[in-house]
Amino acid sequence: MGLFEEVSAFAQCHVAPYTVQADREGVFPKEAYTALKKEGYTGLLVPKEYGGASGSIVDHVETCMALGSVCATTALCYMMHNVATMSIVAFGTSEQKEFYLPKIASGELALALAFSETGTGTHFYNPEIKAVKTENGYLLNGKKSFVTSAHHADYYLVLAANPEGEGLSVFATPNTMEGMRHDDSAWDGLGMRGNASVPVYYENVAISDDHLVGAHGDGVGIVFNVVAPFFILGLASVYTGLSLAASGCAIEYASSRAYTDGSTLSQIETVQLHIAALFSSASASKALTLNAAQAALEGRSDALALIISARLEASTNAVDVCSRAMKVGGGHAYSKRLPLERYLRDAYAAAVMAPSTDVLSVWLGKALTGQQIP
Ligand SMILES: Cc1cc2nc3c(=O)[nH]c(=O)nc-3n(C[C@H](O)[C@H](O)[C@H](O)COP(=O)(O)OP(=O)(O)OC[C@H]3O[C@@H](n4cnc5c(N)ncnc54)[C@H](O)[C@@H]3O)c2cc1C
Repeated sequence: MGLFEEVSAFAQCHVAPYTVQADREGVFPKEAYTALKKEGYTGLLVPKEYGGASGSIVDHVETCMALGSVCATTALCYMMHNVATMSIVAFGTSEQKEFYLPKIASGELALALAFSETGTGTHFYNPEIKAVKTENGYLLNGKKSFVTSAHHADYYLVLAANPEGEGLSVFATPNTMEGMRHDDSAWDGLGMRGNASVPVYYENVAISDDHLVGAHGDGVGIVFNVVAPFFILGLASVYTGLSLAASGCAIEYASSRAYTDGSTLSQIETVQLHIAALFSSASASKALTLNAAQAALEGRSDALALIISARLEASTNAVDVCSRAMKVGGGHAYSKRLPLERYLRDAYAAAVMAPSTDVLSVWLGKALTGQQIP
């Protein structure tokens, strides 16, 4: 059994039972996340020497995809944790690795990304939050606009301008420090409703170099070498998972929904065309995403272009597949007797997650024609 199948089986038992509640009540899927920690999945990318599984970017993709096929909310929270973990694996000093990684591997610590801000929106790589130097360290002031897993992650990785010079720095702040404030009422998403993606305010929060990830200025490397592959492909994986779920649900429903005369939806040619189209799109998303992950693993020169195109296709396909699946599901889908409307609401987040698909499309067009991208 491959990792995708293994995680899918795990998710059916330990994630699926909490998915509907997370969506309906807008609550973080705590039990599912705890199960992920217990099973060691939150330590997937932690090297073996620190107690983890030494997983690769392909393993990250397969795990996020399998979770996304059961609960996109849980998958997105998990994906962000993996990206934050990988930032420490790739850029942390040996002391930082000693501190964080064994605890991440054992499930004691979970992480979140506090990158986006209202002032720069989808251009999260231009943070305005300020770390101003003091006698003992820095005072952090500003607001992060969406922190997925807020309260439930133990540390938030905060992207800030480098207070010591050029570029960006990343600080890992515990989820509560004096001067930190969460706006818990602010998350009421169309989909991804259990994400707890709330604004977090930093008001004169005293931090020091002990809170750094790597060294000052490493933020740029973290954004381009870690966030770019692991986050962009992670999104492609989560939303491919959704497409696979919607495709599977529509196929099963069309085969089982029978009229009085005994005929089924699946015998109607138009429905067959929908089924063919949605299965093909979901399979294409999966193939593109796995192919891009393999290119990244091999360090191929075309990896970034493949990663971006996988994310673009997976995002567009997720909305298309879910919309088409809603047609197949008819009134049953519309009246929420099938999970398809949740899938569709969740799928709409794919395009807006930073960098948005619009921004990535421009970048890809530039990169393929030899022009500079940020
Ligand atoms: C479910 C969810 C979870 C999230 N979790 C996190 C998290 O954990 N951590 C985090 O840091 N952030 C998170 N975010 C924030 C997210 O990554 C984006 O930063 C945020 O959605 C941007 O929203 P905005 O309204 O400020 O976008 P805006 O910047 O206002 O952009 C609006 C739209 O305008 C278009 N646009 C803007 N600029 C350009 C351009 N130059 N070229 C072409 N098109 C452009 C894009 O299509 C974009 O979608 C989350 C968001 C969502 C929806």
